[in-house]
Amino acid sequence: DAQQILEGMRYPLADAGALVIFRDVTRIRQLEQVRQDFVANVSHELRSPLTVVRGFLENMLDSPIAADDEVSSQLRLMEQQTLRMQSLVEDLLSLARMEAAEANPEHCETLMIAAMIHNTLDTLAPAIVQKRLQIDTALDGDLGIFAETIDLTSIIRNLLENAIKYTPADRTVSVRWERRSGDLRLVVQDTGDGIAAEHLQRITERFYRVDKGRSRRMGGTGLGLAIVRHAVERYQGYLEVASEVGKGTTFTAHFPLHLARSFPSDSAVS
Ligand code: ADP
Repeated sequence: DAQQILEGMRYPLADAGALVIFRDVTRIRQLEQVRQDFVANVSHELRSPLTVVRGFLENMLDSPIAADDEVSSQLRLMEQQTLRMQSLVEDLLSLARMEAAEANPEHCETLMIAAMIHNTLDTLAPAIVQKRLQIDTALDGDLGIFAETIDLTSIIRNLLENAIKYTPADRTVSVRWERRSGDLRLVVQDTGDGIAAEHLQRITERFYRVDKGRSRRMGGTGLGLAIVRHAVERYQGYLEVASEVGKGTTFTAHFPLHLARSFPSDSAVS
């Protein structure tokens, strides 16, 4: 009953025009849908048991049995791992939601990106201060974007978290939000170790990590950049990454111009 989907590939021919080859991708699309639904359902089902386990762990940590140092340190480890699983489940659900559909205009509103960036930087202040990082910002405060809050929150948070995480102490991270002639751009540039060319292609794949051990120690689910990419693509935008080993990495999220909204600073204050 599924509609048959044919995808055409156009090949230019030397002088006789073009050749178009169609192949039936119905089955591939169906399997992809099954995969997406499966991941979304499993993640959803894992939510409640994890909440229950975490709740009981917290109770135990507050109870007299936690007076024993050995017991309390084991309970804390269990709590940490439960939190890690919860972040994984939430990230998998975000990804499933973003893959499922393009942005819905009914859920979109004018977002003040400059303010969102400042808020995110505030929540990341402990890491910034600890590493004595300098944060340079060049944000167009009047430039808003018509989008879903959750998407832009994920994009900003994940890019800034990574830049801060993968930049050594005493260096600089810069953030720009601007309108260019062709598009709207969010640019997050770090002065970290950079990413080698062979990894760059795969960096937005789910769970892909350049250095597995290091990334796991640093926390994070390995889903951050997959989420960023999908969130940008929901708006027909694209994510660009440029990196030089030893110098740093620049992530640029490009959004179409028609999403621009002006946000006069005076109305933002009221
Ligand atoms: P993670 O949770 O591991 O940070 P991400 O999807 O956010 O997962 O990133 C995938 C991998 O890309 C990371 O494990 C890291 O190896 C690499 N990476 C991401 N951002 C940067 C960056 N700014 N500088 C260097 N490497 C990065």
